[in-house]
Amino acid sequence: MSNLCMQLVYGLVNAHPDIVCERVFLPDAPSPPRSVESSRPLADFPIVLCAVSFEQDYVNLVRMLISGGIAPFAAARGEQDLVAAGTPLLIGGGVATFINPEPLAPYIDLFLLGEAEPGLPALLDRLVRAWRDGFPSRRQLLLDLARRPPGCYVPEFYEMRYEGDRLAAITARPADVPNPVKKVTLAEPDVAGHSLLLTPETEFADLFLAELGRGCSRGCRFCAAGFVYRPPRLWPSAAIIKALGEKGADTKRVGLLGMEMAKTDELAKVAEALLASSCQLSFSSLRADAIGPELLKLLATSGLKTAAIAPDGGSERLRRVINKGITEEELLWAAEELVQAGVTNLKLYFMIGLPTETEEDLAELVALTNRIKERIGAAQGVDDISVLRLCRGDGAEGQNKICAQPLCRPGQYPSACGQSGQCLFSGGAGPGRQKGGGAAFLSGRLREKLAPAFPAARGRARGVHPATGPA
Ligand code: SF4
Repeated sequence: MSNLCMQLVYGLVNAHPDIVCERVFLPDAPSPPRSVESSRPLADFPIVLCAVSFEQDYVNLVRMLISGGIAPFAAARGEQDLVAAGTPLLIGGGVATFINPEPLAPYIDLFLLGEAEPGLPALLDRLVRAWRDGFPSRRQLLLDLARRPPGCYVPEFYEMRYEGDRLAAITARPADVPNPVKKVTLAEPDVAGHSLLLTPETEFADLFLAELGRGCSRGCRFCAAGFVYRPPRLWPSAAIIKALGEKGADTKRVGLLGMEMAKTDELAKVAEALLASSCQLSFSSLRADAIGPELLKLLATSGLKTAAIAPDGGSERLRRVINKGITEEELLWAAEELVQAGVTNLKLYFMIGLPTETEEDLAELVALTNRIKERIGAAQGVDDISVLRLCRGDGAEGQNKICAQPLCRPGQYPSACGQSGQCLFSGGAGPGRQKGGGAAFLSGRLREKLAPAFPAARGRARGVHPATGPA
């Protein structure tokens, strides 16, 4: 429930005068899913909006439909040509679906591609009108929705032709539905996106989230957010301050999202509002080349002690390959400035296993980390650097995960973090062991050189989510 996308959609739907929206989560225990608000079974709802932020949720969604007694395939639900309890219309959204809706296309009746604010109200209006006036059939309703509200993609009206792994052509049938379907993008909100519900049951129990903007002006090649949220937008300070005004006087922790834009002058006004309410601040990660005087002032006065920057690539060469656009000097400068602003825990996010990576790149990672340590070592109050690492996830080929657990002992399998995969820092040979230079190097020189340089890294564990980590 900490997911801001889900909160925004929940708020938008319940703001509609003719609709009530309830939340349903996949239960921990194997039991039919029921709504949080009224404990109604999932199958009771004629419309189900599916918020899919991560690819891992593809499977969870299908599992949830099956355990809720709903046919998972859209074609099977359409056989009775009804939109009713038991055969609901499934509407898919969330960033994983607008990066690529096709993996879920057999299951979802309609995708809203893009951001919810500009697209969802029009879609809801159309649905309410269809309910009130009646509609000849499920297919006709879907056809009407495919033609009109922007961003609506109904897979059954499109035929995909693949050549090998590549999508070669999309044919619309009938020909008058939009092709291609264009994603919808929010121009500028009156009130910036923010948390609507805080509950101790969730990851960010008492952390009020507010958006500074969407997208990123960088185009790091590995980063979906840098591409799908184009164009990059920064919300006006008035909209952000209005959002902060919704947090309630008792909420003292604020998380600001979208710090890629932090160098803007607008930040000064936001900082003023935040400091006036004596909030404790939290950030996802900071773009090293976007750290300016206003942000540093905000960090210093808010007493922030932990910050993260993401070189991502260990060497200058690798950072150019991934289009990171950050030089070593900028990283060193950013580290120094953050420490001088009062940060005592500095996290560095690196990705290991990037295409073209060599042992020289990993040697550079060690050298860079040591140079950062040297540069900030003279600054007051620095205890250590938290070293994050990647380990194999679930033993499957190609699955790396960011991990913030203490280093595994050599040969430890499964990894200390509890993943079933092989820790790249350990020297064992479990089934998930990565072949090639990375693992061999990490099990040897990196472990030897990096961990002793930062002894605290061996014993500290921090919660870092892969989705909010690198920036
Ligand atoms: S990784 Fe960070 S800096 Fe790069 S495009 Fe994504 S959000 Fe921007």
